[in-house]
Amino acid sequence: MTKQTLAQTIDEDTYVYLLDLQREWKRTLPKLRDHDALKLFPEAKVCIREKIREWEGVRDKFSESIKTRLQELREYDDEFSKWFWKEWLKHTDGSQLMGAERHIKRLKWLLYSKNKQTSDKGRITQSDIEYAGSVPLEELVDVQLRTGGKTLFGLCPFHEERSPSFHIYPEQNRWHCFGCGESGDSITFIQLRQGLGFIEAVKYLTGLSV
Ligand SMILES: [Zn+2]
Repeated sequence: MTKQTLAQTIDEDTYVYLLDLQREWKRTLPKLRDHDALKLFPEAKVCIREKIREWEGVRDKFSESIKTRLQELREYDDEFSKWFWKEWLKHTDGSQLMGAERHIKRLKWLLYSKNKQTSDKGRITQSDIEYAGSVPLEELVDVQLRTGGKTLFGLCPFHEERSPSFHIYPEQNRWHCFGCGESGDSITFIQLRQGLGFIEAVKYLTGLSV
């Protein structure tokens, strides 16, 4: 006996209507950033250190294999093979390595800002500024991003546009919009996006109360 699906028990119009509702519901689900999620599930804090270690393991694994493969490449005589396999390495192990690095950065940031809240209040330090600047932009940018080569891109949050010209360079953690010419790092992004001053933006990013 097979289970009847919803589509078989109701008429088609109702089914289409339900699909629409479902799509609408998914669209309006709040997008949780790491920090918001951590407020909701504070017990998750204990697993962050564990996750950092896991990602560090992944990072080490891929950086080892990249090293080995680069050594192997030296044996090749023809330039084309060298170029081809280097490119291939960039898009396979290289991008895995970069992904792991990003996760480590993101999780360390979460831990850091959590500790910050309990230590000092008010004054910001040079290390706060450095840390704020290293907060991964992908975590802050509230528009949909697509991957294109070494960059991520999407519609610019600072001006109206139809084709995406807002780019993020995760390796440098910088952003640039080719449409309106705005650019910067995490701090400038938050300054512009939230209408905050420099110090307020640093406090926002390090999790210090604003
Ligand atoms: Zn723009």
